[in-house]
Amino acid sequence: MSKDIYVFIEQRDNKLEKVGIELLGKARELADDLGQEVVGMLIGENVKGEANILFRHGADKVIVVEDPRLKEYLSEDYADMVYGIIEKYEPEIVLFGATSIGRDLAPNLAARVHTGLTADCTKLEIDPESKLLMMTRPAFGGNLMATIVCENFRPQMATVRPGVMPSIEVDKADGEVIEDKFEFSHKEPIVHLREVLKIESTKKDITEANILISGGRGMGGPEGFDALNGLAKELGAEIASSRAAVDSGWIEKSQQVGQTGKTVRPELYLALGISGAIQHLAGMEDSDLIIAVNKDDGAPIFDVADLGVVGDLNAIVPKLEELVRKERE
Ligand code: FAD
Repeated sequence: MSKDIYVFIEQRDNKLEKVGIELLGKARELADDLGQEVVGMLIGENVKGEANILFRHGADKVIVVEDPRLKEYLSEDYADMVYGIIEKYEPEIVLFGATSIGRDLAPNLAARVHTGLTADCTKLEIDPESKLLMMTRPAFGGNLMATIVCENFRPQMATVRPGVMPSIEVDKADGEVIEDKFEFSHKEPIVHLREVLKIESTKKDITEANILISGGRGMGGPEGFDALNGLAKELGAEIASSRAAVDSGWIEKSQQVGQTGKTVRPELYLALGISGAIQHLAGMEDSDLIIAVNKDDGAPIFDVADLGVVGDLNAIVPKLEELVRKERE
């Protein structure tokens, strides 16, 4: 009899990735609806010390699997461990981040345990009658939202993009830590990791930023984005963009917000020269405070903005930068 909601906790260099913490919050809500428990799956080498963090964010139990072979993520070895957990503990639901690791691991496991997987979900709910997990994701190029259920196989599995689910903090310092071990399917790893090459980037991931200054086609070109650096420095902000700016080659894809970009929920989202297409709003409308600058007073971005400024951003941005500088002095 399958039960409980399991969350794959992603870590890199033994540092927990935000997405696992976010998923625990959603798992807590689903588990409460089902009267079940939330279990974190923490896999790596010397990762046990991180378990306490998971209890504070909604986990009731944490299954820790440690082995020197699990120091870095390798598809086969990690899939062996999660497969071991699924076979032994029979979870009702298993959630993964839709990151490069989660997108590799989850389908591998879905095939192994012979169940379904809904990728890139934006909403997860329990159907009050059937108690099935309703997994909602954009379909047909984002033109409609599809809600998918997995009726006949267990566990029900989903991946969720980073930044979509808000994390929670609960007043709970500890819980049950279960240390377990599972067999690797190959005595020797079939893939040997020679070296990890890290891209040195001075840019912070936009999903981690508290303040985002986001530019659209209205920036007029790459030089428009260069002109945002001063304001970004004054505000301690990161620069993001709409897809139009990415498609025009003005800014990197990693900075794109929206349905086919990243989902963000910063404390402040400053939207400059962005019209507010539905696909853009999908990635930022849950920001705490949205300020929009647009020369068109009918731009849909104003429908979601807490504060709107109608005007030419080329005149407004330098004034804003000046104002913030004076405030900070
Ligand atoms: P525009 O719509 O061209 O708007 C530019 C705005 O700038 C206008 O409102 C204009 O009034 C204003 N402006 C111009 N000059 C100035 C000035 N000097 N001062 C002030 N305001 C000015 N889009 C995304 O952003 N993210 C996504 O992830 C995404 N995914 C998509 C997925 C699909 C399947 C599809 C079909 C589309 C997707 N899009 C996405 C594209 C989306 O539909 C819009 O085309 C895009 O968001 C428009 O970008 P924009 O607002 O920068 O440009």
